[in-house]
Amino acid sequence: MSRKLGQKQPEMINRKFGQLLVLSYDEETSEQKKRAYYLCQCNCGAKKILSGNTLRTGRTKSCGRCQIDRKRLEMIGRRFGRLLVLSYDEEKSNQTR
Ligand SMILES: [Zn+2]
Repeated sequence: MSRKLGQKQPEMINRKFGQLLVLSYDEETSEQKKRAYYLCQCNCGAKKILSGNTLRTGRTKSCGRCQIDRKRLEMIGRRFGRLLVLSYDEEKSNQTR
């Protein structure tokens, strides 16, 4: 059985790729881009539209945002010698970028 690129693949629905859960096939984006696109939900709750190909290759395992957020959160409350991390400084972090 051969499939055309961009064809809906029902077996993709409800599958997990890293932190992403495939919610549904995105008809509109798939039409536009001539490939199969799916609406995915990340563990953090954010939704993202990704191509089936991107999901299968494992290049994208989360929405991308929460990875940064989690890194920030992991630091909070940690001790480094005599220093205790209290919070993330959004303003300064943006300046140095
Ligand atoms: Zn996320």
